[in-house]
Amino acid sequence: MKNFYVISGSSGVGKGTVIKEFLRRNPNFRLSISCTTRGMREGEVDGVNYFFLNREEFQNCIKNNEFLEWAEFSGNFYGTKREFVEKCLENDENLILEIDTKGALQVQSLMDNAVLIFIAPPSVQELEKRLRGRHTETEEAIQKRLNSIKLEIENSKHFDYKIINDTVENAVKELERIILEKA
Ligand code: 5GP
Repeated sequence: MKNFYVISGSSGVGKGTVIKEFLRRNPNFRLSISCTTRGMREGEVDGVNYFFLNREEFQNCIKNNEFLEWAEFSGNFYGTKREFVEKCLENDENLILEIDTKGALQVQSLMDNAVLIFIAPPSVQELEKRLRGRHTETEEAIQKRLNSIKLEIENSKHFDYKIINDTVENAVKELERIILEKA
């Protein structure tokens, strides 16, 4: 079966920017839309950035086995619908999942055609600076996200590739090189 790409990286590492630029240059790739119970941020649109569910709706999807993977991250639930991924692969689409490392490892254990790519910050100090610079989270939320970095780096040891996001340009080029090589 066709390969698809699972991209993870710590909060604030700039993976969103790298993926957005990759998609701009490679419009034949599609980004999976996840479900989440977290609140909508300013500028986000339901059904575009995420499918925003309440906890009960999310629990029902878990019960009905609708998720390929799901994980709790920073006190909220996030999950990828199984049907979404299966439909894309059946239609021969080029698919990217942007999910946390716990979810990525679940996908790796379930599907042989998943290629796992970890986007790492040049340093943890740099990451903290970027996270604070976003001004989207409270101090408590920032602390939670910083605490999860250790686990993410540990999980990333099982990934197929690691990209250091020193500059967006370098990271996008590296992502293109990996994906073209595995296509
Ligand atoms: P954010 O709240 O900043 O949009 O995302 C927080 C974390 O949740 C990020 O690491 C992001 O990659 C991850 N995430 C987004 N969607 C999913 C998903 O469907 N499954 C899992 N496991 N993680 C997700």
